[in-house]
Amino acid sequence: MNKKVVTRFAPSPTGFMHIGGVRTAIFAWLLARKNKGTFILRIEDTDKDREVAGSIEHIQESLRWLGIDWDYGPDKPGDFGSCIQSKRLETYKKAAQILIDKGLAYPDPYSAEELENFHKKAEAEKRPFLYRDHRPNKFEVWDGTKPLRLKTPEIKRYKWHDLVRGDLEAGPEALDDFILIKSDGYPTYNFAHIVDDEAMGVTHVLRGEEFISSTPKFLSLYDALGWRVPAFATLPSILRDDRTKKLGKRDGAKDVLEYQREGYLAEAFFNYLVLIGWNPGDDREVMSREEIIQAFDIGKVQKAGGAFDEEKLRWMNKQHMNRLSNEDFLAGCKKFVPNISENIFDRALPVIRDRIHVFGEVRYMFGREGELGFVTEMPSFDPAKLSWKGESLADTSLHIKKILELLEPIAPADFSADQIKAAIWPYAEVTGKGNVLWPMRFALTGRDKSPDPFICANILGKEETLKRLRDAVALL
Ligand code: GLU
Repeated sequence: MNKKVVTRFAPSPTGFMHIGGVRTAIFAWLLARKNKGTFILRIEDTDKDREVAGSIEHIQESLRWLGIDWDYGPDKPGDFGSCIQSKRLETYKKAAQILIDKGLAYPDPYSAEELENFHKKAEAEKRPFLYRDHRPNKFEVWDGTKPLRLKTPEIKRYKWHDLVRGDLEAGPEALDDFILIKSDGYPTYNFAHIVDDEAMGVTHVLRGEEFISSTPKFLSLYDALGWRVPAFATLPSILRDDRTKKLGKRDGAKDVLEYQREGYLAEAFFNYLVLIGWNPGDDREVMSREEIIQAFDIGKVQKAGGAFDEEKLRWMNKQHMNRLSNEDFLAGCKKFVPNISENIFDRALPVIRDRIHVFGEVRYMFGREGELGFVTEMPSFDPAKLSWKGESLADTSLHIKKILELLEPIAPADFSADQIKAAIWPYAEVTGKGNVLWPMRFALTGRDKSPDPFICANILGKEETLKRLRDAVALL
């Protein structure tokens, strides 16, 4: 590419960022970064009725979490001015004036009621309603109180190229005199985004397929203004995991920051989303952000939609967690279980690393029903549960006493699962593994399911292990 690539992500501040929005941002960002170009975050807030307070902050926070940085954004204006559309009203007025001067824009003279009647009439006659069929012969002077409409410069068939979908075309029925500026003084999306893309030098427009049907209208506006048309790339939809329809809020298209709160790694989330509708052309799946930038190619984006599969995302997260040092892994877990001591954490780390896919899951591991629940809570239990299948309580008591005897000589610092096993195994082999190991494990955990008794003892540490074994003896 000989021209500097400029892409933008242009969300409307109408609520939280969901997966679809973020994936669009990722692709636009990748195309810019791959080509050492510019990435712009533009806030499209011209529909004041739909705006949700706090969204602009939230959008930025979501992108920051994912490592998507912008060269221009709501906090970083450019030579072209603000990146927030409501602060660019003068720019749209100027562009509107160009069209008015060319005789290509006019105030809509009709009342809402008159328009509705046109609609009804078209419906009764079973033909599509087109505003341009009612275009006035003589244009009034626009005073800003009425909507300003484009006079479609030429009613014709448009053909265009989409970097993902290939050659597309649509007949004249796709064209109409659409509104440029509403009576509240704000521009429409159709108008504002084109004015801004031109002002900001955007070379590539990446967005969802819902904009394909309006593209002929956009092209007619480019013609009217005599502006160059950027490259279009229509991204594939994100589907529900059963692939029956687009992922919607009700299907779990939740706030992206929820994933952060649950303890997903930003890199894994990024990696997973980029693979919905794109692949590096080889069989790599687990990739760092840098590797993805290197491999990214807009030409390899697929046309067909891809499914969002939460299980696959968890898997991806685990792959990225596996790459972390123990230190970083612990740091990730810590904030979810702040009350667990460092020592216990260090010793439980192999079990935790093996099991969890997302940091937040460590809470459940240490929770009442969790595999490591025994660490924080020793439930009261029926002493009969200590003995293995038909073994007498008296013999069970003997076994536990023997275990105590075997463990006492081990220094606290050497109290590893291997050492503990080495001390007890010969006795268990002669006496019967179930008879010895079951009561040991039950005495340490008070529950039917847990890791093996050597690991449990190691995680509890020598002092707590001996205490729990003595408590069991006392109970018997
Ligand atoms: N504001 C539009 C949206 O939220 C942006 C579409 C575009 O990227 O042009 O969908």
